[in-house]
Amino acid sequence: MASVVIAADLGGTNLRSAAVNESGEILYRTNAPTPRPGTPAAVADLIGRLAEDCRANAGAEAASFGIAVPAILEASCGHIFISPNLPLLNGSCFGDLIAARTGLKISVENDANAAAIGEHWLGASRGTANSLCVTLGTGVGGGLILEGQLYRGSIGTAGEIGHICVEKDGLPCGCGSRGCLEQYASATAIARMARERGVSLPEGSSGSAAVYEAAKAGNADAADVFRIAAEYLGLALAGLVNVLNPEAIVIGGGAAAAWDLFSGPLTAELESRAFGPPTEGLRVVRAMLGDDAGLLGAARIALDGGGR
Ligand SMILES: [Zn+2]
Repeated sequence: MASVVIAADLGGTNLRSAAVNESGEILYRTNAPTPRPGTPAAVADLIGRLAEDCRANAGAEAASFGIAVPAILEASCGHIFISPNLPLLNGSCFGDLIAARTGLKISVENDANAAAIGEHWLGASRGTANSLCVTLGTGVGGGLILEGQLYRGSIGTAGEIGHICVEKDGLPCGCGSRGCLEQYASATAIARMARERGVSLPEGSSGSAAVYEAAKAGNADAADVFRIAAEYLGLALAGLVNVLNPEAIVIGGGAAAAWDLFSGPLTAELESRAFGPPTEGLRVVRAMLGDDAGLLGAARIALDGGGR
């Protein structure tokens, strides 16, 4: 019988869960709002309930469970160091809570790392040995696939591309530093920069979709914001190209929808700063899996027998 695992992708607003087989087919999926305010135990309980629903509808026995979490964490034990966008998890032994709740073999991974694994397995960086995946959402997430494997670093915190400094005395960042890429190239930052330039956006809109709509409708200030974000991203990625010499850079997340506006300035900035030889064969491509990248990456980790 084909292997089936349970996967979950925990976001700041939504929890998504699915039963996935070894070909990457989603056999069943469900979702629920993330409990906020809440406790780590309440979130673990909801994850457990969605996992039970997925197991009951998977059509095959599933004993492994991969969970993508928006946090810097220790993947070996699921301990959360810090979750800037879901701070209720800070300091929790989240993997233990979910293991106790579900009785399944648990793997917990950073959500951007999971997205990188998903895109490498089934998406835009499939077939490459060395790739970077950058997710432009509420923050800027990053994941490194080196020699075909996720690079986690010595304690599991590697890949935080969003916290590369691009402005020495720039805006304060949730990580405690200032001038991080995340403050200039996330979907949140794109909306902020558009408002600063007088672009009128719907009340409460915090992502880049409304800015893109304004740009497509001919608002030059809105279009210029994507150029600025792309140049900051190109600046950070040029340094990474010089250090890591990847074959592909995959750009995903909500802001990637504005690909036509920022891929040009991004490539121009990158090529003007990085060494020539590593940029010649480099592909800078849009992510293919959309919102499912993290979910499928979490499934892949569970299929590979990560966790405990
Ligand atoms: Zn930062």
